[in-house]
Amino acid sequence: MEREFTDFIHNQVKRYQGNPAYLLQILRNIQRLCTHIPENAIVLLATQLAISPPKIRALIEFYHFLHYRPRGQYDIYISDSIIDQMSGKNEIAAYLCEKLNIKLNQPSADNLLTIANTPCTGMSDQGPAALINGRALPRLTQKRVRQIVAKIQAGIAIEAWPKEWFAVADNIQSKGVLLNSPSHPGAAIKKALASSPLDSLAEIDKSGLRGCGGAGFKTAKKWKACRLNSGEKKENAPARYVICNGDEGEPGTFKDRVLLNSYSEQLIEGMTLCAYVIGAQKGFIYLRYEYQYLYQKLNDALHKRREANLLGAHILGSDLSFDIEIFIGAGSYVCGEESALIESLEGKRAIPRIRPPFPATQGYLGNPTIVNNVESFCYAALIIEKGADNFSNQGVHGFSGCKLLSISGDVEKAGIYEIPLGIPVKSILNLCAAKSVQAVQVGGPSGTLITPTEFNRVISFDDLNTGGSFMVFNESRDLLENALNFTRFFMNESCGFCTPCRVGSKLLCELADKVAAGHGARLDIDSIKELNHVMKQMSHCGLGQRAAEPLLQTLEKFPEYFAKRITDKEYQPSFDVEKSIQRAKEIISIQNNQEGTQ
Ligand code: SF4
Repeated sequence: MEREFTDFIHNQVKRYQGNPAYLLQILRNIQRLCTHIPENAIVLLATQLAISPPKIRALIEFYHFLHYRPRGQYDIYISDSIIDQMSGKNEIAAYLCEKLNIKLNQPSADNLLTIANTPCTGMSDQGPAALINGRALPRLTQKRVRQIVAKIQAGIAIEAWPKEWFAVADNIQSKGVLLNSPSHPGAAIKKALASSPLDSLAEIDKSGLRGCGGAGFKTAKKWKACRLNSGEKKENAPARYVICNGDEGEPGTFKDRVLLNSYSEQLIEGMTLCAYVIGAQKGFIYLRYEYQYLYQKLNDALHKRREANLLGAHILGSDLSFDIEIFIGAGSYVCGEESALIESLEGKRAIPRIRPPFPATQGYLGNPTIVNNVESFCYAALIIEKGADNFSNQGVHGFSGCKLLSISGDVEKAGIYEIPLGIPVKSILNLCAAKSVQAVQVGGPSGTLITPTEFNRVISFDDLNTGGSFMVFNESRDLLENALNFTRFFMNESCGFCTPCRVGSKLLCELADKVAAGHGARLDIDSIKELNHVMKQMSHCGLGQRAAEPLLQTLEKFPEYFAKRITDKEYQPSFDVEKSIQRAKEIISIQNNQEGTQ
């Protein structure tokens, strides 16, 4: 057995040609085999990949879905987003644990199974949802839980469970230019190859396409910066890379899941176009762990395109040679940030890099790299095939272009909506049949909470910007519960690299818990505000900088949820902004001095 395991590790290293950038993939494969990463695997890998054991252990500790302890034959993660909670997640989780006589987040006594929470499985339109051994279990009910428990107690492998239990619906509710366009594999590439890469770049520029993952950076500008950079040629490494960020981890977002499932031709076409424009030969699709059940379908699509000479050497007889590999993540929200994603792709902890330099000039393995999300690449393919105007003419009220939204929460028609940019929130609420709406969270936990008085505001890069998440809450919801859920999410997802975020996000949770439990005082509100100022100024990336937003926005727009829980009923804000900024500066200065003396 020991011999077999050693051979397995050896074969894994051989499969990835001893390249340490594939460490995360190797660890995932070990985890699949053993349900955890045993210590002897760490020692063997350390020797064969020339990486120190502490570095490998640090990697295992960093990613949510890698473990030292066995998880058992059935490894269950229940989606704990606020939307899943609203759909009855807590009751379903308690029922499942009770039926299986197990505690949440602890392996069963016989090590047969583990049930744990996970932030969001990307199925907010069909929750409560869970993952079992990486496969999706949407629309959980008590009846389905009883059926699942029976299978587990009978020891039946999940491969033999009814297929319909794992069926994830696309739930497309409204189609626009992208979702309505039938797939024409190779159409955009043929058109692009008939003219120069600069012509394609000009068309993307004319369309006004901006990154659809939330940042909204102009796509053509990014591609141009990468194209202009000659890059440092490395042995056996292509000079430029195209990376698709398929790690949509913002709670309440699931539109990339649908694109990956049903529009993969457009995605691959868009990545190939990007390669043509920037001169790349190699691409990666970074698929989030929670979407690994889409891997086979995606891989089949890549294979089909290779057979059709739409991928690989000399695409359609041209000078363009480009191929794509799928990389599966291991659970880290910070990977949504492009430089953190590149770190992960290089087999490291996903800690955001200091920028500049930006990935377009210095990305994967130090080479110029384009990172765009799934939706952006799909739109790029559409723009080249159908023309820039076809895309830019879609906007309303003076805005141009369109966008996919993932709509969930208190609506009759949850799902995917392709909407014109510039559309007001009230029109979207009509489309999805939302009633008695108290608030909408646009752009996920790090986005914007809006009240009914703001429903005339529009979805656009200039007003309400969103990577896709649109969560609706009716009047029955306690919005402080939402804020708490989001704050806990940030605490759990803090990568721990910088102290203000690592410690600050924990303190925020403690303060918010105290207030929610009815033990809060005026001082706690002030402390939340002070922490916000320190974290905003001193955190390394957007997570820490925006971690207090859910609490602060709720406090500003719905103060009653705090007021009724504050023991000091005559609450008067006594927060001194200037004092906090001064304090943050003092801490920064002390840190700088300490670093200078080290
Ligand atoms: Fe990591 Fe938080 Fe610092 Fe970002 S702000 S680098 S998530 S610790």
